[in-house]
This record gives sequence, C-alpha cells and structure tokens, in this order.
Amino acid sequence: MPADRLRTVLQRIVNAADAAGRPPPALLAVSKTHPPEAVAALAAAGQRSFGENYVQEAAAKRRALGEAHPSLQWHLIGYLQSNKAALAAEVFDWVQSVDRPSVAAALARHRDPARSPLNVLIQVNVEDEAGKSGCRPDELPALAERVADEPRLALRGLMSLPVPHPDPEQRRPAFRRMRVLFDELAARHAGVDTLSMGMSDDFAVAIAEGSTLVRIGTALFGPRPG
Ligand SMILES: *Cc1c(COP(=O)(O)O)cnc(C)c1O
Repeated sequence: MPADRLRTVLQRIVNAADAAGRPPPALLAVSKTHPPEAVAALAAAGQRSFGENYVQEAAAKRRALGEAHPSLQWHLIGYLQSNKAALAAEVFDWVQSVDRPSVAAALARHRDPARSPLNVLIQVNVEDEAGKSGCRPDELPALAERVADEPRLALRGLMSLPVPHPDPEQRRPAFRRMRVLFDELAARHAGVDTLSMGMSDDFAVAIAEGSTLVRIGTALFGPRPG
C-alpha cells in the first residue's frame, strides 16, 4: 500500500536523522516511469513533492494530475538538454540539475515573470568523474553567481549523485565533500537552504553527512518497470 510505504520511509528517515543527531531532511518522491495513478495515491497519503528525470514525461503527468492536485511541487532531477529548457521552465517548480551557464540562462529566459522564480539546485560532479553530468567543484562559485544574478531564478543549493559504489558506505566521502561545498555556498548566498543527496539505498549515509532533501523512488514505489 502506498500509504504504508510512505509511512515506513518517513520513519526510516527520522530514525537515520535521530541516530546522526541531525534534523530530518525533506522527502522528494521520485516518480519517474510510474504512472500518474501512483503519484495520486502518494499525494492522497500526504506527499507533496515529486521528482522526474524527463521533461516530457513530467509535463504529461502534471497535466494528468493538475486539476485534482494543484498544490504538488515538481522537481527535475535528470539531465536537462538546452532545447528542453523552455518546457522545463514551465513544468517544474524546481530544477536540481543545473550544471552549466547556458542552461541557467535558458531557464531564466523562459520562466514566466508572472510566476514565482524557478528554484534551482546546482548539480555538482563532486568526484570529478569523466563523462558525468554536474559541474566541477572549481566551476561552482562562478555558476552560483550566474544563477544568483538571474531574477527569475532562485538559487536554493546543491544536488549530487555520487558514483554508485555497491557499498553505500563508500559514497560517504562524496557526501561529506558536498556538505562542505554547501556550507560555503550558504555563507555566500542568502536563500541557500537545500542539499539534495541520498536515494533508496544510501539515504541513511547521506543524512548522517547533512542532506536536507532525500530523493527516493524504489523504496516508495517499488522497482521501476523495464
Ligand atoms: C532515479 C533517481 C533517484 C531515485 O533512485 P531510487 O534508487 O529509486 O531511490 C534519485 N535521484 C536521481 C537523480 C535519480 O535519477
């Protein structure tokens, strides 16, 4: 039952935070590949924030659910192609995968000025892994300035997706490094309050290292089809 799964995950988050002496992070339910009915069931149980990897899939889901669930918050957590920035600026409340100046500029250009600014997290390739999305740590200060200078964007923090070592304990150094970058960013920019890290199999480690938002799919919805 979706409500039971949600309750269990929320309890595991609280337990991990208690064990680490940290405040419990917020929960983003990652609904990619799951149908609108699955989102509706979790929304009925009280979940408000949902994460999607593909712009068009999210647009369709938001359309399907919009009337019945106008208060849901949609986050893009997948790679954003520049040619999808216009639609992304319309569909999402948050984009967590901003990793280059051109994408920040495109989102700002297309965000309707009548709406609240688009919330932005900068994705950081903290282990500097070749071929992975996310800016390098040394590129972060300039990119953050760029986002902060855009009135239609609100710089809220950082997102990371560490190398998926089979043992989550091996991801701890990456989480720890992210928390240092996040604290530096928050000291420089007002309004920075979100560090997005931790998924179904590693959220306890991410919480211990200071995550403020965990992105959880499988533990809430079950395995993804395909
Ligand atoms: C799919 C995905 C998640 C959720 O992963 P689970 O292991 O299903 O919890 C979190 N973050 C990103 C960026 C993802 O692509």
